[in-house]
Amino acid sequence: MTHDYDDDCIFCKIIKGEIPSYTVYEDDDVKAFLDISQGTPGHTLVIPKTHVPDIFAYDADLAATVFAKIPMIARAVRDANPAINGMNIVNNNGEVAYQSVFHSHFHLVPRYTDQDDFKMVFKDNSANYDDAKYAAIQAQIQAQFN
Ligand code: 5GP
Ligand code: ZN
Repeated sequence: MTHDYDDDCIFCKIIKGEIPSYTVYEDDDVKAFLDISQGTPGHTLVIPKTHVPDIFAYDADLAATVFAKIPMIARAVRDANPAINGMNIVNNNGEVAYQSVFHSHFHLVPRYTDQDDFKMVFKDNSANYDDAKYAAIQAQIQAQFN
């Protein structure tokens, strides 16, 4: 894997050791370290060891390399604490989607109870959709693969 760094990127600085982090796992391809915010205890970030801003910039090789490591790291985070009952894995892309650090990363957020400090809302808008609306959106997306 190529290792390209952006000198102004905080996560590249963490990879290079210029900024300290509580690293829980690393190899040649990825680094996993505790998110400073600890949304829930054990909240971990997994990042590729090359500067890539977001999911849209991955090629298939980088995706295969990084995604292959996530289940292993997720199991380790879960198994570290018997109180962990589940996990949300979240990847924000773009400011509108709450991305604040523009070096792609995956949040591993351990879940303890439905009253812990992580929330995610999927609004059900299906009442506003009919067959024509679904089909129009389907066609717009499908056309991008041609
Ligand atoms: P985003 O909002 O881009 O999806 O997530 C960025 C995450 O990076 C935030 O959850 C934030 O707490 C974390 N973060 C920002 N700066 C640092 C840092 O210097 N060290 C660590 N460990 N996490 C950081
Ligand atoms: Zn970077």
